Amino acid sequence: MDNVFWWNGKAVVPQEGSFITLNPDKTITVPDSPIIPFVVGDGIGPEITPEMIKVVNAAVEKQYKGSKKIYWVEVLAGDKAEEKGLDRMPSETLELLKQSVVSIKGPLGTPVGKGGKSLNAVLRQSMDFYSAIRPVYYMGQPSPIPNPERVDVTVFRENSDDVYMAIEYMAGTEGARKVREFFIKEMGVSEGAIPEDAGVTVKPMSEFKTKRHVRKAFRYALENGKKHIAIAGKGNIMKATEGAFLNWAFEVADEEEFKRKIIKEGEPGEGQARIYKVITDQMLMQLVLKPEYYDVIITQNLNGDYISDLASALVGGPGFVPSGNIGDGYALFESTHGTANDIAGKGLANPLSIILSGAMMLEYLGWKEASQLIYTAVKDVISQKKGTPDIASGFRKQGFDATELSTTQFGDEIANRIKNL
Ligand code: ATP
Repeated sequence: MDNVFWWNGKAVVPQEGSFITLNPDKTITVPDSPIIPFVVGDGIGPEITPEMIKVVNAAVEKQYKGSKKIYWVEVLAGDKAEEKGLDRMPSETLELLKQSVVSIKGPLGTPVGKGGKSLNAVLRQSMDFYSAIRPVYYMGQPSPIPNPERVDVTVFRENSDDVYMAIEYMAGTEGARKVREFFIKEMGVSEGAIPEDAGVTVKPMSEFKTKRHVRKAFRYALENGKKHIAIAGKGNIMKATEGAFLNWAFEVADEEEFKRKIIKEGEPGEGQARIYKVITDQMLMQLVLKPEYYDVIITQNLNGDYISDLASALVGGPGFVPSGNIGDGYALFESTHGTANDIAGKGLANPLSIILSGAMMLEYLGWKEASQLIYTAVKDVISQKKGTPDIASGFRKQGFDATELSTTQFGDEIANRIKNL
């Protein structure tokens, strides 16, 4: 692949490529030859990431016949960076990711017991990816529910707020004692509500952070013809945080940009979507029983974690689901599963999560026709009951004959299918 530039003592940025630019209004301008950095990732990353590049290249080539071309630039992070004697997240990598605006990565592990922040958290904070977006749809793979074609939902998880701010005081520490004293003495909280042996985690939730996230989700729903937007939270219990989140989301619907487009009552017409509030526990249950009710779900950070994993399970697990971390123009796409060290290096890994993340990235670039080719090809290959061992064994359990492919063979099948579409 002549458009892939592997790390070679440093990141190699080709002359032929151009950087995507970030405009003052936070939109992006994409050249025909964008430079897209990629991190192969740890564990199964070196097996699945090249398959994504292969498939995305095939789709771009098929659709644009050379008039558009991605220039892929490898940047190091995680194990591969450490092997070269660098930090696990080298500053060179962070700088190039930022300069390039849009990028993609495989899974990164956090070594146990070494301390420090997870690499994913470092990335999230450096470009302020405040929305984590996970579209969950069915492509024909074995699934644990009947009629999985009913699942087509995009989960918008707020990514910069909530209990993830790590403001925590462990039971028995000076911090917990001070917090307890403050609440009891200054705020009139009863002693029994925070017993002496309690730890405390703080859950902040901000109007600014909520509204920027909600605006992103509303725009996505309107651009993609999604009609029903559930705003999920436990506002009945946590009024100051999740309750406020639900109310702020409704206030965004009144903003000039969304007036008459995001409606609160009645059936949404052409160019409209309707919002409604749901309580998280009820929606989790309904998501299993009646997934067809849900188009877009907007939620907070912790609820979003639960909801997106449950939604992924409906179509067979995170191995089949892409994800994007999006901020003000900056975007990083990634596989949703972990490093799967137990199967690394064996050619068993399912590359679909990162391949579909690549398709999601093409949509973000505005190259939707090319992303459609990927969706069609993946569906075609799976419909022939071909796939990596996880897919093939799932089909066999359902009583079908299936062809087991290695990670590379599966990538090849999808890329070849694209060429023949
Ligand atoms: P991490 O610590 O990086 O989150 P993990 O092993 O805890 O990793 P996953 O990597 O998501 O979590 O793996 C959970 C299980 O799912 C493992 O048995 C793994 O082999 C399997 N798995 C995960 N991703 C894939 C994949 N892409 N293809 C096949 N199996 C996978």
